[in-house]
Amino acid sequence: MRRVALLLTVCGWLTAVMALGWTLCLLKLASWQAALIPAPGVAAGLLAVWFGSRGRPYIGGTIECVALYTMVCLTSLFLDQTTDQMPRTTHLFLVPLATGAYMALRGSSKLLRHGIVAFIFLTFVVLACTSLGGHPAHNLPDELRIIGGKVNTVAAAVAMYLAMHIMQADVEARNAYESDLREAVRTGQLALHYQPQVDHDGRMLGAEALLRWPHPRRGMISPAEFIPLAEKSGLILPMGEWVLDTACAHLAELATHPDTAHLTISVNISVHQIRQPDFVVQAMAAIERHKVDPRRLKMELTESVFARDMDDLITKMKALKQYGVSFSLDDFGTGYSSLSYLKRLPLDQLKIDQAFVRDLLTQPRDLAIAKTIVDLGTSLNMAVMAEGVETREQHQILEAMGCRQFQGYLFGKPMPMAALLEQATRTHAHTPAPAPARPTEEPRAGAPVHA
Ligand code: C2E
Ligand code: MG
Ligand code: MG
Repeated sequence: MRRVALLLTVCGWLTAVMALGWTLCLLKLASWQAALIPAPGVAAGLLAVWFGSRGRPYIGGTIECVALYTMVCLTSLFLDQTTDQMPRTTHLFLVPLATGAYMALRGSSKLLRHGIVAFIFLTFVVLACTSLGGHPAHNLPDELRIIGGKVNTVAAAVAMYLAMHIMQADVEARNAYESDLREAVRTGQLALHYQPQVDHDGRMLGAEALLRWPHPRRGMISPAEFIPLAEKSGLILPMGEWVLDTACAHLAELATHPDTAHLTISVNISVHQIRQPDFVVQAMAAIERHKVDPRRLKMELTESVFARDMDDLITKMKALKQYGVSFSLDDFGTGYSSLSYLKRLPLDQLKIDQAFVRDLLTQPRDLAIAKTIVDLGTSLNMAVMAEGVETREQHQILEAMGCRQFQGYLFGKPMPMAALLEQATRTHAHTPAPAPARPTEEPRAGAPVHA
């Protein structure tokens, strides 16, 4: 991601400077109509840099890509047509552009990525192999095109070299990151933290297990950052197995104390994990290994599991449910929600995504969505839990709309098992009203880890 932003910054500045140079040059040596072609490139380049610096590289990248492509095509077709004296050269910029687009679109679908890159290369081939162009009278004088040709060739070569360099550095950084993660899984560097889940009286019902990676150099890394890499590299399978096993071990620990024996643990299950043919056996083996009550284990699925093979998913869920495990639908409302899934799947709980909870007080639409989810879950006989509850006001509104289960910083941040045990014992003894969590309970993602 950082390299995409860097690529964007370099390309943005290069575009703005080149476009400004050509605009001034064409104003002086040709006509103002000719200068109109590169002029928007100045604004587009600067906009791309601006969006890149604001953490929105995809918007910046799209502006940059469209502006560069349009500028290069218009210049090639109208101002830089092949003559007996000089072949056209502006289309050379399409090669680094295609390389940059290939890199920037690596997170998108294969169809989009290869489609756009193939389209740019196709344009390159057409402009290189044909004399396709507008009226010859629009063409710049050959003397100017000869100088411009040299500038274009050098600049396109430099841009290509930069794109290659950034691409290689990116591959190396990703490989290093992946091998760090592999090592972390192998040597047991990962940790499970637990975030309390409470009922309407503030009594703890259980906790959600959330992965943490205390990286020796980079500090605490959030799962939102490393889970996608783990899913891509297949590491999610050993990682998920470890999470299930550790959560069961912690459930066994909770069961030994009367104040915590009733608590449940919710485990996030990745789509890749549940698609494994032996997932049910694996889960049951973890439960039996630690001799825990399967009714205390909850599995959180996201809507991504609905994308394919629903029959297989339902068979696995039913087998585990019969065994005692319960299921929750996480981040409800943000994915490919379909009401027919709710009917077909043996779900026990819906979790209102924190995106709707965050702006409950200010966005009437979020309020309406949250209320609809509560009503839907209640009428389908499911428990409804609100995630990401941070303030008393959010808690009160959710409670007034009929929500009875809550999770969020208001009740406790994710914390190590020892701290959860301490909080559970304390709240069990006093059953107090929900108190804001102490902000020091968990180091922030990116904060240095002290061994
Ligand atoms: P999730 O399952 O939806 O977990 C809730 C996320 O919201 C957690 O982020 C939690 O720390 C955060 N959160 C909870 N309360 C609040 C609040 O009041 N305010 C705010 N701003 N945030 C709150 P976290 O721990 O960074 O986890 C992110 C995601 O990573 C999880 O979202 C889950 O999808 C994934 N994940 C975490 N652990 C695992 C795991 O063991 N396996 C799999 N497959 N995914 C995991
Ligand atoms: Mg979850
Ligand atoms: Mg969630």
